[in-house]
Amino acid sequence: MSRNPVQGRTLFFDYQAIPRNDYCCEQMRYHHSCGEKIIFYIPQYREYGIRVTDTIYQKINSCPWCSRAFSVSLKEKFFDVLSENMEKEIGIDDLDQAPPEFKTDEWWKNRRL
Ligand SMILES: [Zn+2]
Repeated sequence: MSRNPVQGRTLFFDYQAIPRNDYCCEQMRYHHSCGEKIIFYIPQYREYGIRVTDTIYQKINSCPWCSRAFSVSLKEKFFDVLSENMEKEIGIDDLDQAPPEFKTDEWWKNRRL
């Protein structure tokens, strides 16, 4: 009998805490104030996740405490816009060459996404 492992997403950036302004409920505020780093945020993708290992995470679409939906992930858009910007198909291996705005959330904020 075999199991289908749930595929995690590979993290190519550093794990970051959810910004204080993005706390949706008291439980989230409380758990972050305790220094828990299970639920985290990837500014480059505007994506939230549950940490599985140092480099693997599971994407989550809503707060695990209050169920409020998070903003839609921009992960696919990140690579589309970056590829357009660099005028070539960009893959994970090319991220080092990305312009500075793509190393933060600046790229999607600049484009008002
Ligand atoms: Zn919440």
